[in-house]
Amino acid sequence: MKYYSTNNQAPVADLRKAVVKGLAEDKGLYMPQTIKTLPKVFYDEIHNLTFQEIAYNVASAFFGEDVDGDALQDIVYDTLSFDCPVVKVTDNIYSLELFHGPTLAFKDVGARFMARLLRYFTQSTLKNQSNPINVLVATSGDTGSAVANGFLGVEGIHVYVLYPKGKVSPIQECQFTTLGKNITAIEVDGVFDDCQALVKSAFMDEELNKHMKLTSANSINVARFLPQAFYYFNAYARMKQNVKMQKCNNLNIENLVVCVPSGNFGNICAGLFAKRMGLPIKRFIAANNANSVFYEYLQTGEYNPRPSIQTIANAMDVGAPSNFARVYDLYNKDYEAICQDISGATYSDAQIADTMREVYQQTGYVCDPHGACGYRALAEGLRGDEMGVFLETAHPAKFKTTVDNILGTDIEIPAKLQAFMKGTKQSVPMTKAFDDFKAYLMQQP
Ligand SMILES: *Cc1c(COP(=O)(O)O)cnc(C)c1O
Repeated sequence: MKYYSTNNQAPVADLRKAVVKGLAEDKGLYMPQTIKTLPKVFYDEIHNLTFQEIAYNVASAFFGEDVDGDALQDIVYDTLSFDCPVVKVTDNIYSLELFHGPTLAFKDVGARFMARLLRYFTQSTLKNQSNPINVLVATSGDTGSAVANGFLGVEGIHVYVLYPKGKVSPIQECQFTTLGKNITAIEVDGVFDDCQALVKSAFMDEELNKHMKLTSANSINVARFLPQAFYYFNAYARMKQNVKMQKCNNLNIENLVVCVPSGNFGNICAGLFAKRMGLPIKRFIAANNANSVFYEYLQTGEYNPRPSIQTIANAMDVGAPSNFARVYDLYNKDYEAICQDISGATYSDAQIADTMREVYQQTGYVCDPHGACGYRALAEGLRGDEMGVFLETAHPAKFKTTVDNILGTDIEIPAKLQAFMKGTKQSVPMTKAFDDFKAYLMQQP
């Protein structure tokens, strides 16, 4: 499979190049040249398949031409060592829980898949040379933990996580500073933008790139982006199973609406790919917090990116969604066609908090602030006999202070998260001056 750039000014790339480079030369995002549909028999039988089996079928459609079948199966099965179950919240609204991975957030799947695919592509070259691939990642919290844990223990790859000192929550900090092994946390005396600037300068520094092989684990990477399609197939399969077992009071699987709490729009875009592959999802809803650039696009046809504002659903605080370019490209820039498949919603912090309280009081289900946007958009947006699944993108304990404040609870921190908090923090202090960072990296093997 070849990958073209959404800016159409770069040469097409094979999968290996797209994964190692991340962004195309013209700064566009890579898109697969063809999106294969899956056969009818797959959809007929999907409810009898496990999450891993479904994911392997989907992964084969994307990557089967470029990755040996057995290796791909290992990559998929190893990535999905946890489930993403569908849980009933109300009569017609279900939650697809994507938070059962190592860092309790949905980004785990993309990060783990990418680490294993990168390992697959670099294995052969690594045998001849002893120096590892170095992944640099700047984080304001969540991405760093997912990437660090996704790459933890993966041979031949070293990860440097740059994070702003004192600006990430203690739980998040534990998730990438206590790991050791091939993960190094770098605590930058500055803000997130300083971390990102250090990473960008490192990629552009010739001397440094001669000294060590550098790559990024950015969320726009096709190896992080495409595996998110697995979720949608699993949501459909589990709902079809529910319908078959008559657990859905006469609801019809053909009326399935999927709602995705969205920031950079990578997750929902993978869902749109799934639909293109023949997955019969009726329509999508993109739920935003107060950062409503995409919502406004759907209302007006005008796309006006701008700086983000802070909200309690902070993983969606994005003012210029990077995957908008992919959505736009997928629909050939056709505004009407986009509106046929996707509608939008936007919620203030007060509305998010109200929704969390309402769901909790009426059903006992604890939504995190991101999932609450998804729930509310379904509660307000489902028509007639539609049924909805929202993607619950993070475990509420990841946002414990916010959730407890709003619900008056003292929610339990899952053992997985507690284990991180018992570890010892290890990090390398760093100034925000590139010369210091470069000097440090030049000393690394
Ligand atoms: C990253 C993230 C999102 C947004 O996903 P996008 O793919 O950027 O749209 C939503 N919720 C949580 C918890 C996240 O970490």
